[in-house]
Parts: sequence; C-alpha cells; structure tokens
Amino acid sequence: MRGASLVRTALRRFNRFALRHLARPLLEVELRRPAMVFAPHPDDETLGCGGTILRKRRTGAAVHLAFLTDGSASHAGLMPRAELTALRVDEALAAAEALGVPAGDVFLLGLPDGALHAHHEEAVARVTALLERHRPEQLFLPSIRAEHPDHVAANAIVHEAVRRWGRVATLFEYPVWLWRHWPAVPLPGTRAQARAVLVSSLRAGFGFRLLSEFRTSVPIRDCVDQKRRALARHASQMRRRDGDPRWWTLDDVSEGEFLDCFFQEQEVFRRIELVAPRVDPGRR
Ligand SMILES: [Zn+2]
Repeated sequence: MRGASLVRTALRRFNRFALRHLARPLLEVELRRPAMVFAPHPDDETLGCGGTILRKRRTGAAVHLAFLTDGSASHAGLMPRAELTALRVDEALAAAEALGVPAGDVFLLGLPDGALHAHHEEAVARVTALLERHRPEQLFLPSIRAEHPDHVAANAIVHEAVRRWGRVATLFEYPVWLWRHWPAVPLPGTRAQARAVLVSSLRAGFGFRLLSEFRTSVPIRDCVDQKRRALARHASQMRRRDGDPRWWTLDDVSEGEFLDCFFQEQEVFRRIELVAPRVDPGRR
C-alpha cells in the first residue's frame, strides 16, 4: 500500500510540474476580452474557472454567466425538487456575486438537471440568442473528457450555438470530473468505487490527456482564497444540510482530494480557436 501511495505522490508531482511548464498562461490582454461562461450545473463555473472569472473581472472585462440546468438532481430524495431548485438559484447568484459577476449578467436557463441532452434544441436556440445579444469573444464551457452526461451535453450545445452564430471566437474547455482520476485522487476502498475511479483514470490517460490537451492556463495563486469563498456560496454542495449524513458534499468525493484539484496554482483549459467560415467564391 505504501509503495502504491509513493508511486501516486511521485506521478502527481510530475503531472503538476509538467502542467505548470507545458501550459501557456493566458496573456493580460487576453484576460481583458469579454467572455461568457457556461456551467451545466451551479458550481461548475467556480470549480472549472472561478479563478479565471475573478482575474478577468479584475481587469474590468465583461463576464456573463449562463447556468444551463437547475441543479435540482444533486440530492434527489433528500429534498423536494422545487425546493432544491430555489436553493440552487440563490446559491448560483451568491457565487456569481463572489466572483464579481452582477446578477444582471447571470442567465439561469433552468433546464432539468440530469436530462440536458433531451433539451438540446431549446438550449441551442437560447444559447445562440445569448451569443447574438452579448457578443463574447471568449467562451468557457465544460470539457467532454470523462465528464458527467450534462457536461457532455452542454459542450455539444455551446459548440452548435457557436456554429449557428457564425462569429470568430475562442473557446476554452475546462475539466471538472476529469480530475477524478488516479493519480489526481486516490483509489477508494470499496471495489465498485475503485472500479469507477479506474475507469475514469483510463479515460484520462492517467493524467496524460490533461498534459496533452489542456495547454492553456490561468495562474490563480493570488485569488485562490476568493475562489474558495465563491465555492462556499454553493452551500448545498459544500455542507451537510442539517447534519444529515446522507447529504453528500463535494468534499466527500475522493476524501477531499477531488476538491483539492481545483485549488492548485492554476486553472487549465483546452483552447480552440474558431475562425469565421470561409466564403466559397464559386458559390456566391
Ligand atoms: Zn456539473
């Protein structure tokens, strides 16, 4: 066991060192560009790019925040869906405020948590309308690598909306559940849980995918405490409600080591430059 944990420590150190040196930090001029952040669930915006939002807002950049689902499935069976929805709306607005995004720049699409793929068309139309109205130059959206189905659906929705919008933009895909792999997190005790982490680790190439694809970074050392405070505003995800032991929190995932992945010295992104569609002279 001790040998395995030493291997994990060494690999994790190597991955972090390599990410730090391979990923290119976003330039100050790039941080100033207007952006729109897409979160499949309330908390993804802070986990995936909370530090980046804070740094962008510090430069005076406009940041709009769109929450695609209502977050009503996080604690199914422990709270009525409508009550959880209302709670998560309040938390999303409070977290946005802590990230420096005013309530007027927050859009709550309210689509059903856990079934985003079934609302693809409606979501694409609404996201396209947001892009047309606010014209962001940068879009932050969840990655599809080893992610929750709603994250995969959100990625497809934003890509399709950008295609319909037809403008030049830079996309930054952020990892959330991709971090739940060994060696970033330890292997859990039960066989079923260990298997889940091993599957995610295989999909993540044991960190290699992060190193090879997520080559853009934003240093967040000077705003990591603010990021923690913003995440704490998602109280339903961070604290056991009324001490109920069944109420899971993000800190329960991989004994807190999953959460630690979001408070390293940088956030990382897979950068995609979109160019305007070329007009074929023969088809004019
Ligand atoms: Zn999520």
